[in-house]
Amino acid sequence: MEPRYVDNAIIEESYRAIDRLKAGLGNAHPLYYIETYGCQMNEHDSEKIAGMLESIGYRKAASKTEADIIIFNTCCIRDHAEKRTFGNVGFIKELKAQNPALITGVCGCMMQQREVAKRLSQRFPFVDMIFGTNELHVFPQLLEKVVNGGRVFEIRDTDGEIAEGLPVKRNEGFSTFVNIMYGCNNFCSYCIVPYVRGRERSRRAEDIVEEVRNVVREGFTEVTLLGQNVNSYNGGGVRFPELLRMVNEVEGLKRLRFMTSHPKDLSHELVMAMAECDKVCEHIHLPVQSGSNRILQLMNRRYTREHYLELVRDLRENVKGVEITTDIIVGFPTETEEDLEDTLSLVREVGYSAAYSFAYSVREGTKAAVMDGQIPEEVKKERLKRLNEVIAESVTGANDKYMGLEGEILVEGRDMRGEPMMFGKLPSLKMVYVKGDESMIGNYYKVRITGTRFNSLVGEIID
Ligand code: SF4
Repeated sequence: MEPRYVDNAIIEESYRAIDRLKAGLGNAHPLYYIETYGCQMNEHDSEKIAGMLESIGYRKAASKTEADIIIFNTCCIRDHAEKRTFGNVGFIKELKAQNPALITGVCGCMMQQREVAKRLSQRFPFVDMIFGTNELHVFPQLLEKVVNGGRVFEIRDTDGEIAEGLPVKRNEGFSTFVNIMYGCNNFCSYCIVPYVRGRERSRRAEDIVEEVRNVVREGFTEVTLLGQNVNSYNGGGVRFPELLRMVNEVEGLKRLRFMTSHPKDLSHELVMAMAECDKVCEHIHLPVQSGSNRILQLMNRRYTREHYLELVRDLRENVKGVEITTDIIVGFPTETEEDLEDTLSLVREVGYSAAYSFAYSVREGTKAAVMDGQIPEEVKKERLKRLNEVIAESVTGANDKYMGLEGEILVEGRDMRGEPMMFGKLPSLKMVYVKGDESMIGNYYKVRITGTRFNSLVGEIID
């Protein structure tokens, strides 16, 4: 089914609202501050809000206290997210009291949960605008209502649309994100994303390639293609391996990454595209979540441990030097010691270069939230500790093999802890620390690995 695109007339109205707000500001450049929680998808949404604000004439504030508009872009994935968000929003009450002209807004996944948004609205009447994930493209119109003295509460339940052509103010640096799709159809039983981000919809391949060309013109050399499940991308018949090959052809692009991959949709064709495209980095984030087939089934992940290990073999055989990272949940309802052992043995077998581990926590509205057999907190905690020990062994082992190897890093910044060092990533996503200075930032250097740390490597520049 073709995705629904936001009508051009609506996007044009957003631009007209930008113009009206800009005219209202005259030569003034008020300051904005956006606080973002959660994943890269949210980060990128915040870049779009920043793009619209900058088009109006706002400039980025260094801190909340000096801002004229503060936006919280929320997430509902993590533990106690609601409590934390409410705490942080509550903090700006004081700022609003000192400066009644301050505009405050809360948006993102948590606000797409209507009940939570209502609670926030009632508890914090000083918040001027509350809007969901489906209203991003009308942000200028919503802001205009607030500037004209109104209060905004806009949450539309829709399976989702695609809005093209909005301004984006990308974070500074040499690496950036490009959305290739939105939403998710998978309904993993623990996950709230399909309820707050709508059904899967893919952007047109030509729009994606054009956006990558544009960001390369702006000076970015590394691009990460973003989606909840990039492996099921289908932009008018163009599937993900083909898209990867198309983007790989963009002149001036040096590195191409993508995330996130769902194991059930990772094809051999994609593995071969990774192997054959010179700009595609030898790294894949492949969330396994559990090593137990029984738990995978309860999670509605729709692959088995055996299938996952088969994918790992295919990747290792074909993509030279590939590193695999993952997400793992322990303490899922009914998880037994045996299930946990299956997860630990899988971690040892795969040898991840990094793994993000979580103790299962309930997300209201998901199937797992009402499953029998919820695991007591102290058991989850103890299992997470055991998992983290096995992950640590796995990561250390993955680091040791780099000793003496050569590779290329993109220098990203300076680490001021201890002896100041510059840091940058290899294509495999391994962080390498080297001696040097700020003039190196944004450039690529050939390095030889001379040492290892827990999560990173130390190297010397050889070119
Ligand atoms: S694939 Fe599963 S975990 Fe990932 S966003 Fe979709 S439902 Fe959530």
